[in-house]
Amino acid sequence: GDIADGIGRGVETFSASVSETFLEPVVRLGVTGLSRAGKTVFITSLVANLMERGRMPQLRAAASGGITAAYLRPQPDDTIPRFDYETHLSALTGTAPHWPESTRAVSELRLSLKVRPSGLIGAVRGPRTVHVDIVDYPGEWLLDLALLDKTYSGWSADILSRMGQRPGGDGFRVMLTETDPTAELDEPHAQALTGAYTEALKEARLAGFSDCSPGRFLLPGDLAGSPVLTFVPLPEPDRPTPRGSLWREMERRFEAYKREVVKPFFRDHFSRIDRQVVLVDALGAIHAGPRAVEDLRLAMTEILGAFRPGRNPWLSALLTGRKVEKILFAATKADHLHHTQHARLTAIMQELMRDARRRADFAGADTAAMSIAALRATVEEMRTHEGEELACVRGKLLETGRQAALYPGELPEDPAVLLEPAREGAAAWLEADYNIMHFAPAELTLRPGEGPPHIRLDKVAEFLLGDRLR
Ligand code: GDP
Repeated sequence: GDIADGIGRGVETFSASVSETFLEPVVRLGVTGLSRAGKTVFITSLVANLMERGRMPQLRAAASGGITAAYLRPQPDDTIPRFDYETHLSALTGTAPHWPESTRAVSELRLSLKVRPSGLIGAVRGPRTVHVDIVDYPGEWLLDLALLDKTYSGWSADILSRMGQRPGGDGFRVMLTETDPTAELDEPHAQALTGAYTEALKEARLAGFSDCSPGRFLLPGDLAGSPVLTFVPLPEPDRPTPRGSLWREMERRFEAYKREVVKPFFRDHFSRIDRQVVLVDALGAIHAGPRAVEDLRLAMTEILGAFRPGRNPWLSALLTGRKVEKILFAATKADHLHHTQHARLTAIMQELMRDARRRADFAGADTAAMSIAALRATVEEMRTHEGEELACVRGKLLETGRQAALYPGELPEDPAVLLEPAREGAAAWLEADYNIMHFAPAELTLRPGEGPPHIRLDKVAEFLLGDRLR
């Protein structure tokens, strides 16, 4: 029954003694999102706020005093790097506050909460400890799931046609015109092609596009420079490709990437997650325009699809009997907007997710969309400009260190207009000061019991963890 389900996983995956896992439930919380979506800041602030609990009114167990203690404990997995919480927290809250270094690979942190349930259940069960194992990993790696369904030839055709519809990739295209896929592989040439292709992915990412897989090309970690990350899409030749040719070797490496990089990630990390938050820089995509928003929607569909992998037999088999119970899509950095715009941002997230749910035929987990700021770097301010009242946000600019009150512009009232392809070029959302809004974290004096200031992190915690803390 219930107990067996809860601990079965614990016994299988943790080296902790059986009696410990019996008494102390574990929640494995995945935190993902594309590079710069805000994962590092999110985990740091969430953990700090759970440790202090002074700013978490919407987390019921915190507000009621049900959480009596919170502390960091050694994580269960000895071979996964530990999330560098202390360094990141002192970056954000030290004397010269700055943004921490972003996520480059998978890492883990165990936060243990001592909980005294209220009412009758509390009287029967008594206090207990709930371990929250936070697993941070790049969202780029999730998007790689789509590669498993593809052959090298199909993938190449898809990518080359997609490239035509995005900014970037000029250098790579020029190199391709001078490349014969049937010629014998020349390693320096393969490396140069890969460099140009990676550059194209970076350009697309900078222009606000979400799906820039293969995921390890932008975040290679210790695989940088290895053959498994030295391949590119090629136009399929209409002549036979001899052994040792560029085409054959690229095809072999593409298959190796799927086998040696993509599958182990899903097997070792993804398959063990209970609850998932996907952080999304929706404001960045909206600012970049309708094509970037459409791309974000497709990426969200891919991501949701990974949690209900009907189409992928390999993943389905891997996940048999496993279920991710909750998935939250959170639009980050909402402190760039006055709170009067937050409802619109949430409506946009809901619209993107509604569509993703429909397309991914998703009915598995409890899902939600929210607008949040893990670390609030601004305060709100009304300003009059040419007789008009503007809802601004004020903060310290990253570049000059000066205080400024800026007006980000408006989000549409009807989220559907963001997805109208006809609006490309005519988009007018977040076109005021949003472009120059790069705020530094504000200087803080935190009193004992106070975590860093945030927007709705408590609501996030209630959705993801609340039921386990009662
Ligand atoms: P990661 O790549 O997903 O780990 O992203 P980070 O957590 O490193 O965040 C990337 C950048 O986004 C940070 O350096 C900040 O500039 C910005 N950022 C993240 N969270 C917030 C937030 O809550 N408020 C504001 N204003 N900026 C944020």
